[in-house]
Amino acid sequence: MASLKLKHIYKVYEGGVKAVNDFNMDIEDKEFIVFVGPSGCGKSTTLRMIAGLEEITAGELMIGDEVVNDVEPKDRNIAMVFQNYALYPHMTVRENMAFALRMRKDISEEEIQQRVQEAAERLEIVQFLDRKPRALSGGQRQRVSLGRAIVRSPKVFLLDEPLSNLDAKLRAQMRTEISKLHKQLQTTFIYVTHDQVEAMTMGTRIVVMKLGVVQQIDTPTNLYDYPGNKFVASFIGTPQMNFFDATLKQTGDNVEVVFANDRHINVPAESFVKTDRKYMNGDIVVTLGIRSEDVHVEPEFVEAHASTAIECQIGIIEALGSEQLLYCELDPEGDNSAESGMRLVLKVDPREHYELGQTIKVALDPNRIHLFDKDTEMTIIPRVPKSNILKAKVTGGKALIEGTEFKLPEALPLTDGEYVFDVPSDAFFFDTYEEEAEKFDEEKYQTSYAPLEDKFKSQGFKTPVMPLAHEDFKVELPKGDTKVAVEAVENFGKTKLLRLKFKTASVFAVANQTIADNVKEVNLAIDWKKVSVRQGEEAVCEALNLFNDLPGLMVKEKTTKKTFNFGLEVAGQVFYTNDYIQEKLFNAAGRKVFATELEVDFTPYGVKFAPEGVKATVNKVVDYGYEKFAVCQVGDKEINVLIRTGDVVSAGMDVCLSLDINKLGLVEAERGIRII
Ligand code: ADP
Repeated sequence: MASLKLKHIYKVYEGGVKAVNDFNMDIEDKEFIVFVGPSGCGKSTTLRMIAGLEEITAGELMIGDEVVNDVEPKDRNIAMVFQNYALYPHMTVRENMAFALRMRKDISEEEIQQRVQEAAERLEIVQFLDRKPRALSGGQRQRVSLGRAIVRSPKVFLLDEPLSNLDAKLRAQMRTEISKLHKQLQTTFIYVTHDQVEAMTMGTRIVVMKLGVVQQIDTPTNLYDYPGNKFVASFIGTPQMNFFDATLKQTGDNVEVVFANDRHINVPAESFVKTDRKYMNGDIVVTLGIRSEDVHVEPEFVEAHASTAIECQIGIIEALGSEQLLYCELDPEGDNSAESGMRLVLKVDPREHYELGQTIKVALDPNRIHLFDKDTEMTIIPRVPKSNILKAKVTGGKALIEGTEFKLPEALPLTDGEYVFDVPSDAFFFDTYEEEAEKFDEEKYQTSYAPLEDKFKSQGFKTPVMPLAHEDFKVELPKGDTKVAVEAVENFGKTKLLRLKFKTASVFAVANQTIADNVKEVNLAIDWKKVSVRQGEEAVCEALNLFNDLPGLMVKEKTTKKTFNFGLEVAGQVFYTNDYIQEKLFNAAGRKVFATELEVDFTPYGVKFAPEGVKATVNKVVDYGYEKFAVCQVGDKEINVLIRTGDVVSAGMDVCLSLDINKLGLVEAERGIRII
């Protein structure tokens, strides 16, 4: 039994193929995880890295509490089941199953026989124990290879397309058996397949991949109901979701949707309440998606949903027994191929009779419409909206944002007038806000630089190095003071989404678990640094950039002994690195690391003014009331630094900056690989 953590995992094959790109996931004990995606998307590579059969180019793989990047496959306590069974042909089933246990030498022959017998009974292959693999069918061989995995009682089962050599009927049967096995064994399973039916029926959570990049990680139901992008929407579900170019225009409580050869439907605005208003002006072309079962032909449904009803002509009828598919033409004169955006496929009752060429009236389920940005292909009905676009009227330093009043900070010196505020949903503070106590693994990270300094001094490190400590980087956040009613609370794992009632609009705000599900009112403050302001088309004020980056390099210096000290050079200044960081750099970039350009990234909270360090000049100070930041010039880069109590900083000053090594990120610039 074990949990797994994959942190910034990359695989670059020799020759430069980036097969896996920044894979991040926490897998809990006893989960059944399925990696799914088209051939070549990096599923097997990821699985093989977990197994230890493939080296991890960069990133950290943890099984339980242990980092296993450099642990031999046989010591990872993992069992793998392959598509081609990988049985030894000259051994009997019994010998095949016992083989790995015999290699271990710490298990008695009696126990081996007992484990083999138990596994064989569980898999109903007792009668084949003395046969050789060639005397077994494909299904039976796959059972033996499952048995060989079970006898080892591994912490994690890895299965790579185990059913793809079997015929359809046997596949369906083995699917249920593997699910049953997972329940009985109470162990973590990771299963690779290109078959979405296997993924949907077996996984507790599914990872959809494309070209080495994770597209979405979610439960089967959520993937189906809330695909995060068009790729996921089209990959999951048969027949494929229907897609159309469409425009949206909000008029009062409705949104008029125009699509497919100038067909008009009206959808209640509530269905698109989480959609950015910018898509609602009738000009921007978006992609509308609707699944074939969410288009209805039943007269009662069509009558009840007259505002989303359209007419179309049946072009093809596919009777599949349990269901019937109608391929309808929305432009009978033109192209009605799958790619034309003029074809609507719907699933109907197989016992109803339809004629080719018949014109039918169908209605779209307004609550099941999906919308995607045409360029990015990302959903524009996100479950958790990133941002709120709000109208605001400013008078005398106060802003009436959708009718609710807030005092503006110095950093937003707006003259009286009308504006549009873009307020991200994570830009709110609440009265109940409690800072989560940060947990630090003292062994792994450095909470104080004193021991480092001693070590480096005693080893005669010649380059001036800067201390990097955690204790100096704490911040306090403000509490809210504007009372706002809460209309709804939705739960998403560790976060909550509040729908707040401003006077003239609903506003979405992300909160943590300290807020109760039945909360009726909150005290709110806005995190102004995340807000950007427009007036008409013109950007008046940008949000503060929270992602600083500077050029970096790993450096080494010979010590008095026959060893090296390693440092991280940031914008010309060398910093200490602790063992943890050094190890990561080596794992990632190997010996080439010293010739490798790095990007060092950090937030304004992970950097502070210090007597020595990266040299910078303060361009200006921005004051958000509860927080102030210095905008600093470092070479040709501008970075933002939190001004803490006791810091004396003003525009034009030359300063030195120190970084918090526990919080910085490192990217290998050329290959675009995140090391930390
Ligand atoms: P999947 O399992 O999703 O079909 P893979 O993980 O097998 O995909 O492959 C991902 C990508 O890596 C593909 O582009 C594949 O061609 C490439 N690849 C896989 N193995 C190697 C290898 N040993 N050397 C070079 N490229 C490889």
